[in-house]
Amino acid sequence: MNQIYNFSAGPATLPKEVLQQARDEMLDWHGCGMSVMEMSHRGREFTSIIESLEQDLRELANIPSNYKILFLQGGASSQFAMVPMNLLRGKTKADYIHTGQWADKAINEAKRFCFVNIAASSEDARFTCIPPQDQWSIDRDSAYIHLTSNETIGGVEFHWTPELPLDHDMPIVADMSSNILSRPLDVTRYGLIYAGAQKNLGPAGLVLVIIREDLAGFAQPGTPTLFDYQVHIAHDSMYNTPPTYAVYITGLVLKWLRRQGGLEAIEQINIRKSALLYDFIDSCDFYHCPVAKADRSRMNIPFTLKDSALDTAFLEQAEANGLVQLKGHRSVGGMRASLYNAMPMEGVVQLVEFMKEFANKNA
Ligand SMILES: *Cc1c(COP(=O)(O)O)cnc(C)c1O
Repeated sequence: MNQIYNFSAGPATLPKEVLQQARDEMLDWHGCGMSVMEMSHRGREFTSIIESLEQDLRELANIPSNYKILFLQGGASSQFAMVPMNLLRGKTKADYIHTGQWADKAINEAKRFCFVNIAASSEDARFTCIPPQDQWSIDRDSAYIHLTSNETIGGVEFHWTPELPLDHDMPIVADMSSNILSRPLDVTRYGLIYAGAQKNLGPAGLVLVIIREDLAGFAQPGTPTLFDYQVHIAHDSMYNTPPTYAVYITGLVLKWLRRQGGLEAIEQINIRKSALLYDFIDSCDFYHCPVAKADRSRMNIPFTLKDSALDTAFLEQAEANGLVQLKGHRSVGGMRASLYNAMPMEGVVQLVEFMKEFANKNA
């Protein structure tokens, strides 16, 4: 099999060791004679898998016991609706920070349930930065404030957590789909965190929700059972069948992450990987990254070529060199390199080497 490096934004590359382990355990998990795919979600084998995933997550991200962890389906997109359905708690407004296309989707869904106050937006800067907190205008009557910690398409990332005044009883809700567990995080600064698994955690089909327990139990009347966090909390994510195989693979990914040294260690690697690519892009005028330096994502790096007529040749030659899925999102064009936890440093080294050669040949 050819060695390739996969820069897809999601579903995305997984650690090779994890895939090898899954292959070895495919037909017979730990001597039980079954594949994980064939197990009852209520049996003792799968129970040990999901409990071990929860424990590893709690230890890795230091999640206190008053936060409940849910393993759900429906993708991060389902949370765009579940958040307002559950967290309005009798209020009629919610604040959103508008930083790009994913924030926009969350905003549009929330509008079906409440009045949305856009507390800050980087639209004027064409979503190339994160609006600084001194420019936010928070509505104190809002039930919560929602942000997108990493815009997967635009390539902008929060490198800070907002500080709300102490007398604000307004939980921060964060869509962390594309940067969760890429760096240490202080869960206690948030009321609710959600993340689709297929960027930085595992395969598609699983969405992770971390919710402060006092915020659950207030779903608005008429909320369908499956959209009520309290139902999932009461049933330990087993009200209905969880995405069992995705839970299993995510568990293997977290064990891999612990072997890498945990979040502090992976953050240092992520800083080095992204700096290698950004520094190269900035060092030559053949490539360009539009994002403000202070707000550049370590996970998703969009860039353009000096002449977009070269895009197709770039992608074809990259692929011939084993560097795949570099095409930018259809809405922005150009290129995008996603450097999630599972992308090894060697992949970035090879990408930069290729980009250098391509620039030299086509300058
Ligand atoms: C991919 C993504 C989503 C949507 O995830 P689905 O699992 O496809 O619903 C939402 N938010 C962000 C930041 C994403 O990167």
